[in-house]
Amino acid sequence: MESQIVTRRKLVSLAGAAAIPQALQNLAAQTNEPVIDIHQHTPYSGRTADELVVHQRKMGITKTIMLPAGRKYGLAAQAGGNDECVALCRRYPNEFVFCANELPNIPETREVLTKYLKMGALGIAEQKYPVESDSPHIHLIAQIAQEFNVPVLLHFQYNTYNLHFDRFSRILEKYPKVNFIGHAQTWWANIDKDQKEPALYPKGKVTPWGISSRFLRDYPNMYGDLSAGSGLNALTRDEDHAREFLKIHQDKLLYGSDCSDKFGTGEKCSGSQQLSTLRRLAGDKKIERKLLHGNAARVFKIA
Ligand SMILES: [Zn+2]
Ligand SMILES: [Zn+2]
Repeated sequence: MESQIVTRRKLVSLAGAAAIPQALQNLAAQTNEPVIDIHQHTPYSGRTADELVVHQRKMGITKTIMLPAGRKYGLAAQAGGNDECVALCRRYPNEFVFCANELPNIPETREVLTKYLKMGALGIAEQKYPVESDSPHIHLIAQIAQEFNVPVLLHFQYNTYNLHFDRFSRILEKYPKVNFIGHAQTWWANIDKDQKEPALYPKGKVTPWGISSRFLRDYPNMYGDLSAGSGLNALTRDEDHAREFLKIHQDKLLYGSDCSDKFGTGEKCSGSQQLSTLRRLAGDKKIERKLLHGNAARVFKIA
């Protein structure tokens, strides 16, 4: 604690003296500021839990939210289930917290989610299953989330997971007290009003106010998960749009990494790239802190 204060004072005095180098700014960010990563898995495409811990510390993450797979499919990324996430959180209770998950369309859905929510799960995630966005299955997930007063994070991918994305407005309207967090390709591609399905990682200029942006604007219970290549692409494809988008939706966007590399840095690590992109494009420190910490702390009710 004390050494952190000294470090901070040194940096503040340096900052007052002259422009501080980028490397030192990054150090300041990593040593003094909490960062919540709302989207990781373990194991994940062959990466072990120990390797994940190294990855998160390298990125400067102070709290990581673990998202389990359900009993089948491993989220199509060899991701571990509820028990594997709980085990990691028990080893590192200050650094890792967990959500609950299960397939939404099996008889055991309610029982399994209830079990892990009672154990302290902070949300239901990630829902990545081939069901309609407004199906009875998603209604069930929303009802359980409402009972436990926790958010739900969904992977929207055209013709693959949580189908007919535009119909998700029906869920948003029916469950105004439940916070929903949109994630993945089709969520992010649809910030563009000119999005042409099935493009998953569209490039080039964004025409503002696609479906996702309107969901963020029109529904207080809709949030966006900035994780993965899709979240990174949404910002880097058109940085002028991104600056404005981050400003407009500054209270609705949450940083996440969702990368499966072992390093926490470099070109395969979308998480560290998204961190630096957000620090560069956020515009001011107050907005940056909301994106990297404040919004997630509020939505998931953590410090
Ligand atoms: Zn996903
Ligand atoms: Zn990474």
